[in-house]
Amino acid sequence: MTTALPPGLAQRAPGAAPFFSAREQEILRAVATAAIPPGRILPGVSEETLHRVALLVADLPAPVQAGYRALLWSLDAAALASRRTRFCQLTEDGRRQVMALLERTEVSRLALRGILSFVKLAWVDDRAVYAALGCRFAVDPPAAAEQPRWWRQVTPGEELPHGETLECDVVIVGTGAGGAPLARELAGRGLAVLMVEEGPYLTRRDFSGRPMEMMRRMYRRAGVTVALGNAAIPIPLGCGVGGTTLVNSGTCFRAPESVLASWRRDLGLVDFTLERMTPFFEQVERELEVGPSTAEALGVPAQVVARGCQRLGYAHHPLLRNAPGCDGQGLCCFGCPTDAKRSTNISYVPLALDRGAQLVTGLRVDRVVVHGETAVGVEGVVRAPGGDRHVTVRAKAVVLACGSISTPALLLSQGLANASGEVGRNLSIHPAAGGMGLFQEETRAWNAVPQGTCIDEFHDEGILFEGATAPLDLAVLSSAGWGPRWVEFLEQFPRSVVFGFLVKDSSRGRVTAGPGGQPLITYWLGQEDMRRVRRGLGILSRVFMAAGAHEVHLPIAGRAPLRTLDDVTAFEHAPLAARHVDLTAYHPLGTCRMGTDGFSSVVDDTHETHDVHNLFICDGSTIPGSLGVNPQVTIMAMALRAAEFVTRRVERIYAREAA
Ligand SMILES: Cc1cc2nc3c(=O)[nH]c(=O)nc-3n(C[C@H](O)[C@H](O)[C@H](O)COP(=O)(O)OP(=O)(O)OC[C@H]3O[C@@H](n4cnc5c(N)ncnc54)[C@H](O)[C@@H]3O)c2cc1C
Ligand code: SF4
Repeated sequence: MTTALPPGLAQRAPGAAPFFSAREQEILRAVATAAIPPGRILPGVSEETLHRVALLVADLPAPVQAGYRALLWSLDAAALASRRTRFCQLTEDGRRQVMALLERTEVSRLALRGILSFVKLAWVDDRAVYAALGCRFAVDPPAAAEQPRWWRQVTPGEELPHGETLECDVVIVGTGAGGAPLARELAGRGLAVLMVEEGPYLTRRDFSGRPMEMMRRMYRRAGVTVALGNAAIPIPLGCGVGGTTLVNSGTCFRAPESVLASWRRDLGLVDFTLERMTPFFEQVERELEVGPSTAEALGVPAQVVARGCQRLGYAHHPLLRNAPGCDGQGLCCFGCPTDAKRSTNISYVPLALDRGAQLVTGLRVDRVVVHGETAVGVEGVVRAPGGDRHVTVRAKAVVLACGSISTPALLLSQGLANASGEVGRNLSIHPAAGGMGLFQEETRAWNAVPQGTCIDEFHDEGILFEGATAPLDLAVLSSAGWGPRWVEFLEQFPRSVVFGFLVKDSSRGRVTAGPGGQPLITYWLGQEDMRRVRRGLGILSRVFMAAGAHEVHLPIAGRAPLRTLDDVTAFEHAPLAARHVDLTAYHPLGTCRMGTDGFSSVVDDTHETHDVHNLFICDGSTIPGSLGVNPQVTIMAMALRAAEFVTRRVERIYAREAA
C-alpha cells in the first residue's frame, strides 16, 4: 500500500507535486524500513523520516537528484533480476536479502550506501533518536552579548558597492592558522592590514550543536572535499573567519626537531633551527593559552585508552590543547559552544582588529593583480542577493593564506608563480583512520573532549594516535551497516570509544585547477603508508581489547567486528587495500613548498614567491613536507616569523616611494 507523503514537507514549493513519484516513495519506504527497523530502545524509520529524505534530496543540484532517483529504481531492477518481483512487494527479509546481494560488488555496494546515507541522515535528525541513547540533541544559544569594539572593523562583503576599490599596506587572503597571526603581528607593527575571508564571521550564537547543519555552514562544500586516487579520501576544510582552526580539534604540537633538521639538511632552510623557532612556538602557545585539558573534561574515553595503554606498556598522555576552560562539550569540530577553543576567530583575528586591522567577509578572491613581475593587489567577488559584486584591493604586499588546497588552485587558475612547475605538487595529508571499541561501561563519549589524549609510543614509526570521537549523527553516517544488527550496534553508542591515528606520509598527491578554478585533488597512498595504516589499526584494536572492549569495529568495508586477539592477529596478516579502508585526512600541507631555489620550490625562506615580487604565501602550503604531528602551531609560528619579512618589504617600498 502506498501512503502519499503529507503535502508541504515533501514539496519543493506550495502547490508543487510531491518530490518523489508514488513508485519512488514506495521504493524509498521499502528500503528505509528494511535498513532501520525499530530496535530494543531505538525507534525505526517513520513517515517523518521519509519527509526529511525528500527535503534533503530536493536541496541537491538537479543532476544529483536525478542520480538519487535512479538509485531507487535500481533497487527495483535488482529485485526483478534476482527475485522476479518488485522490491517493495518483497517481505522485509526478502528486501534485506536483495540488499545483501548488492553488498557483494563494489559498485552496487556504493549505490546502496548512497541511498542509505540520506535515510540515515534523515532518521538521526530526530530528538527521539537522541533521547533513546541519552545523547544531547542541540545546544541552547547563549544570551545576546554586547558586541566588542573591534566588531566595527568587520565589513560583510554585501555592504560593499559593486566595483569598490579598497587600499591598504598588506592584504591577507584567508583568516586561518596562517593568515590571522600574521595579520595580528603586522597590525601591531603599525601597518594598514586588510584581511579578506571568503566565509562568514560565525559566533557562538550561530553554533547550534547540530553537526550536520554546522558542516553546511562552516565547512567548504559542506565538508565534501575529496582526494581521489587508489582510495577516495575526504579532506575537510573550514570556510569562515578562523579558517580550518574554526573546525579543528584544538590539538597543539610544535614541529619536531627531527623534522626541522630534515628541512635544514635536505632543503637548505638553515634558519629553521630550534633556537630560532622556539620563541615563535612559545609566543603562539602563550597567546592561545595552550595546556592539557582537565581529567573531568577528558572524561571516560581518555580513562579507557589510558587503561589499555597501561596494560600494554605503551606511552600515552593528555594532549596539549588551545582550549583553556574547556568543559568537554564534545563539539570542537562543529563550533565550540563556550568559546573555550581559541581558534583564530576567537584569538588572532580579534587581536588583529583590536590593533586596527580591517576584515571583509564573504569576499572570494579569484585573482592576484600583477604589474610586470610585482603583485599590487587582488580582485574578488561577493555573492550578493542582487548579483555578484566585484571588489578590488590595492596593496603594497599581497599575502595568500588560503590553505594548502585553495592557495595552489588560485595560483594555477592564473598560471602564476609557477616557473618551477611545483605549485600544487608535493601534497602530504597525514592519512588518518580510526576504530570504535564497545565496552560494558558507560563512556558517554559525547560528554568529553573529542581529541584530548594521545598514544605516542609509535611516533618514531610515523604513527601518532589521537582520540577522534564523533557525535552521534556522524557516527551513524560513517558506519557502513544497516538492518537489525546495525541498530543493535548503534544502541551500544553510549558504551563506545572512538580513537584514531594519523600517518606521517611518504606518499605525495597533487592539487590542480579544475573548472571555475575549483581544486582537483589526487593522492595515491603508497605501500609503505598503507602498511602503517594496517599496523595502526592492529595496535588500536589491541589497545581497545586490553582496555576491556568486547568488540572492535574497524572502518573496513565488509569486515566483521573483531572479538578476540586471534581476530586481531588474523586481521594483521590479511591483505588490505587502500580502497577498502575509510580513510580521512585533516592536514593538507606542502603544495607551495618553501625552498632555497626557484626550480624545486615556490616560496623562499621569507615566504615570498620566487617568481612574483611582493607576493607572499603564509599557510600550510609552504610547509615543505609531512610533519607527523598536527600542524596548526607550526603554521602559526611560521606566520609570526614571516611578519618580519613582510614588514621589511613594505618599509622598503615606502622608502623607495619617498626617495
Ligand atoms: C576536523 C579537523 C580537525 C583538525 N584538528 C586539528 C588539531 O587538533 N590541531 C591542529 O594542529 N590541526 C588540526 N587541523 C588542521 C588545521 O586546522 C589546519 O592545518 C590549519 O588550520 C591550516 O591553516 P591554513 O592557514 O593553511 O588554512 P586554513 O586554516 O584552512 O585557512 C584558510 C582560509 O582561507 C580562506 N580562503 C580560501 N580561499 C579563499 C579565497 N579564494 N578568498 C578568500 N578566502 C579564502 C578559507 O575560507 C579559510 O578561512 C584539523 C583540521 C580539520 C579539518
Ligand atoms: S570539547 Fe567542547 S568546550 Fe572543549 S573545546 Fe571542544 S567544543 Fe569547546
